[in-house]
Amino acid sequence: TAVSVPPVVGARLEVPLVDGTRVRYANLDHAASAPALEAVRDAVDELLPWYASVHRGAGFASQVCTRVHEQARAVLRRFVGARPTDAVVFTRNTTDSLNLLARAVPRGTAVVLFDTEHHAALLPWRGPAVRRLRTPAGSGDAVLALDRALAEAPVGPRLVVLTAASNVTGEVWPVAELAAVARRHGARIALDAAQLAPHRRVDIGALDVDWVALSGHKLYAPYGAGALVGRGDWLRAAEPYLVGGGATAAVSERGEQVSVSWVPGAERHEAGSPNVVGVHALATACEVLGRQFDGVVEHERALLRQLRAGLAAVPGLRELALFGADHDRVGVVSFTVDGLDSGLVAAVLSAEHGIGVRDGLFCAHVATARLLGRAGSHERRAVRVSVGLGTTAEHVDRLVGALRSLVADGPAAEYALVDGRWAP
Ligand code: PMP
Repeated sequence: TAVSVPPVVGARLEVPLVDGTRVRYANLDHAASAPALEAVRDAVDELLPWYASVHRGAGFASQVCTRVHEQARAVLRRFVGARPTDAVVFTRNTTDSLNLLARAVPRGTAVVLFDTEHHAALLPWRGPAVRRLRTPAGSGDAVLALDRALAEAPVGPRLVVLTAASNVTGEVWPVAELAAVARRHGARIALDAAQLAPHRRVDIGALDVDWVALSGHKLYAPYGAGALVGRGDWLRAAEPYLVGGGATAAVSERGEQVSVSWVPGAERHEAGSPNVVGVHALATACEVLGRQFDGVVEHERALLRQLRAGLAAVPGLRELALFGADHDRVGVVSFTVDGLDSGLVAAVLSAEHGIGVRDGLFCAHVATARLLGRAGSHERRAVRVSVGLGTTAEHVDRLVGALRSLVADGPAAEYALVDGRWAP
């Protein structure tokens, strides 16, 4: 595409094919983990020589690390449009962020969510007051179902957990509409932005949600750093998520016992030495993306259009959709091909064409199983293709060509199931 977007590392990787040749790798699995931006690699390179103790060190390099860590907080705040009173807690990833929030939710809070959620958003909430709503048939249904569930919820604190964009279909959820319903019923809203944040501007204030959770490794930074950004009151009132140095304000002996007071801020949840390099990488990615979102969106729209037009011409291919084929989505498409096991499709794409996709149920078992049913597919798993800043028009062309020839002629090599996975 003609738009200029931030470059990523690994664009020239070559991988071996089953016929002994090598080919440029086509990474069509950005939704799982995206390649790092070149700017992120450079920022990490620059920081590594200054790698020193953070928070507790008095030396110059320690001061640099501490400053980098705190500046990253400010960048994250800007990236999601945080309100002045919002807290930023650095975590390992979205899963960690949502588990942390689940620990901080006051006892007895009514939690309402759709059963289509990724397991990271579906499972951390415990207790009798958790209500899982059946996958809606459309956006309007989702609004009605949430309204009804909240009207029936017991008096007391309420929390709605929502996905911003589905990792199975890429569809963008009507977050602002659902948040407005939640507000009418006095509920708070936690947004799983793992899939939306790399592709669209997320604004806590404009969406009117309370928390946003995201992962660096989906946002063109390496693994290991994520964030929970949002309201501080529940976080400040909760016991630390991890107990140890950094969470404690003071510890003293009291006879046989130890008396502990916790750090008053939300940083009480960041016990232990922090991932300064990861957080710096995440913040750098946020800064670069934040400056160039218009180009990112345009780049992905063009690739998605090309992808879906190509897939539509593959005989027997069924696309999964929750809200309908024309609903707004980020660059993710899941599908099955009639008569072909999804695992075999993924194996052929890799071994014969150097294309990386994912197959399975995508940590959203309920959602994927139901979507397969809705699509009238007889397959039990789906293939997921996801585009991003490392994707070129050639990758998409190669994928479509590979699927067409697979449907027409079958695999070029012989495949067998080894430990549950197809291999040539
Ligand atoms: N939510 C969604 C929508 C996701 O796609 C993912 C990652 N597949 C997660 C949460 C969990 O992210 P992580 O594995 O980085 O914790």
